[in-house]
Amino acid sequence: MLRRLMILLFLSLTWLVQVQAQRLPTKEPHAYKKVLLLMGTRFELAAVSRDEQKAWEAIEAGINETMRIEALISEWQPTSQTSEINRNAGIKPVVVDQELYDLISRSNRISAMTGGAFDISFASIDKVWRFDGSMKTLPAPEQVAASVAKINYKNIILNPEHHSVFLKELGMKIGFGAIGKGYAANRARDIMREMGIEGGVVNAAGDLVTWGRQADGSSWYVGIADPEEKDKVFSWLTADNTAVVTSGNYEKYAEIGGKRYSHIIDPRTGFPASGLKSVTIVCPNGELGDALATAVSVLGKDEGLYLINQLKGVECLLITDNNEVLTSESLHLHYYQSKKITAAPTATVD
Ligand code: ADP
Ligand code: MG
Repeated sequence: MLRRLMILLFLSLTWLVQVQAQRLPTKEPHAYKKVLLLMGTRFELAAVSRDEQKAWEAIEAGINETMRIEALISEWQPTSQTSEINRNAGIKPVVVDQELYDLISRSNRISAMTGGAFDISFASIDKVWRFDGSMKTLPAPEQVAASVAKINYKNIILNPEHHSVFLKELGMKIGFGAIGKGYAANRARDIMREMGIEGGVVNAAGDLVTWGRQADGSSWYVGIADPEEKDKVFSWLTADNTAVVTSGNYEKYAEIGGKRYSHIIDPRTGFPASGLKSVTIVCPNGELGDALATAVSVLGKDEGLYLINQLKGVECLLITDNNEVLTSESLHLHYYQSKKITAAPTATVD
């Protein structure tokens, strides 16, 4: 279902962009779009412009920026600065680029804000859980307990003078799986906007940021799938100059004994978060939205809604395992659970 939700989110934007693409030939603004694999996932970059060459150049620049960020922050690439920090856990501080230092320091602030539900040091647990389908039995509780003891963002020691990072404990590890795509989407958007692209979308597998308007001047919309009737959009979100970020257990998970275990880890227990199928955050900042989507998945519906309702300019839409749909206090949905849906554009799902 969640896979479908994501496809629908994606398709509804694709659909809108394609509608614009048919309006040729004209000197009017036009939407250009590229879909490709970046950061191991599906990226979509769309640029609205009157100048086709400029649009493609900007899309290329957005792609290059994302690749540059990946090389810096990936915990999988042994040459990255993140890998160097991890290799030196419990040994010594590592001096890193200001950019990575700042990303880690923002991550730690989000950890503090979410009571540790979001924590980049969750990554020490990746020796315990595998979410590639290869895991057939639950890990031993002692093994989980040993790894969970290494998770604590307060043990990520930052030295602003040297911009160095030190993981205090041997066996600690950091990873940006829950914030990197949002950061990259923000940066790709900034680069494209600075190049004079008046409107566009960067969609990093459901971590989506928009700016400006569609080619015909209308708003960007994101369709939310009906959890009961999966092929139907049950509501639309206006998505102008904002990020719409969805976290869920649709892609990476382990299925053990008929139960699905999400790739989002609760740092308090070392076990996968449960209770929410999908969390969508709407806020101006893709990076913050990405991290909060993960945090709310960990916190669950009550604590998660409480947190989001405290944060000005941040809204959310949650779908529980029982298909209950919950929203934060000020989320504005169009056609929300109404019959008017038939009048809205619909997208088909494979
Ligand atoms: P998605 O990748 O589906 O967009 P998320 O943004 O929630 O979902 O990111 C999930 C990824 O974040 C996991 O695959 C893992 O790399 C990392 N992660 C898992 N649990 C946590 C956590 N509690 N805090 C920070 N990062 C996490
Ligand atoms: Mg996230």
